[in-house]
Amino acid sequence: MNNSANPTISIVAPVYNEEAILHELYRRIVATMDEQSDTWELVLINDGSRDRSYEVMQELHAQDDRVRIVNFSRNFGHQIAITAGADYASGDAIIIIDADLQDPPSLILDMVAKWREGYDVVYAIRKERKGESKFKLYTASAFYRVINRITGFAIPVDTGDFRLVDRKAMDALRKLREHHRFMRGLSVWVGFRQTGVEYVREERYAGETKYPISKMLRLALDGITSFSYFPLQIATYMGFVIAAISVIGILVTIALRLSGSQAFIGQASTLVMVLFLGGIQLISLGIIGEYLGRIYEEVKQRPLYIVDEATGFAEKPDRR
Ligand code: UDP
Ligand code: MG
Repeated sequence: MNNSANPTISIVAPVYNEEAILHELYRRIVATMDEQSDTWELVLINDGSRDRSYEVMQELHAQDDRVRIVNFSRNFGHQIAITAGADYASGDAIIIIDADLQDPPSLILDMVAKWREGYDVVYAIRKERKGESKFKLYTASAFYRVINRITGFAIPVDTGDFRLVDRKAMDALRKLREHHRFMRGLSVWVGFRQTGVEYVREERYAGETKYPISKMLRLALDGITSFSYFPLQIATYMGFVIAAISVIGILVTIALRLSGSQAFIGQASTLVMVLFLGGIQLISLGIIGEYLGRIYEEVKQRPLYIVDEATGFAEKPDRR
């Protein structure tokens, strides 16, 4: 067993109600890491689990002190849990992996090999996804295409948060302390030498997804709003288009009246126009509200997360 305070490789896994998975996760990670010679630590973030996840983590830590635990005071969400893991990890390379074994730990060896070749960010590309609904596959692929279109910088299609990030890139990434975080986008934003390795995404080992539609939508909105003003500009574009249409409408109406036509008389056309414009105005206000809410969130400057207890770390991280 290795007690080194600064391992070469840190593996960070966010955990929310995964008691049925943690032993198997540990077993698979040990099996993988035993095949190579670098020292390592496994940083588990307990994101306010309501099941026995934390007890199981403590059992694992008692068995093997390479297992380290950050226990949140409540649920802060997946992206924040990853951030905390990155803050506490002390390795020269940090690997972010889902705890549910949908991301196969064996791929870590391929990522480390790329890192040794000199790459700073090695993301895992989902070549195939097992056991996911058609709906999830379709919405996920549409999302990456839309976000790349409107943000104008390329977040690799079909990647998740499963990736290796070199210490240098991670220190840059850790400087970004925004609340609505889209980690897979931010880790591209920081730059450095990036590459991908392909894998087949497995089904969940046990339990159910912790990402219902509502959380998926939130994440997608965070991804778009944190990288682009495009939704705000939509209102301007719509304004120009509608103004142009109304000028045409005025001219057409004058022409019709001069020619003695009775077209467009009555309330229906007025009502339709008022409702249409009202709808567009409300949507535009909503979009402004999304950005305003995010500004408000940042202005408050609350910490990203609150730690109840950290177990097994040699030193406190420099920033929390
Ligand atoms: N997770 C978390 N906090 C949350 C939701 C999820 O830490 O509020 C963890 C979860 O335990 C898992 C990872 O984030 O390790 C990915 O979640 P999940 O597998 O449910 O998402 P999916 O793979 O279905 O998109
Ligand atoms: Mg999963």
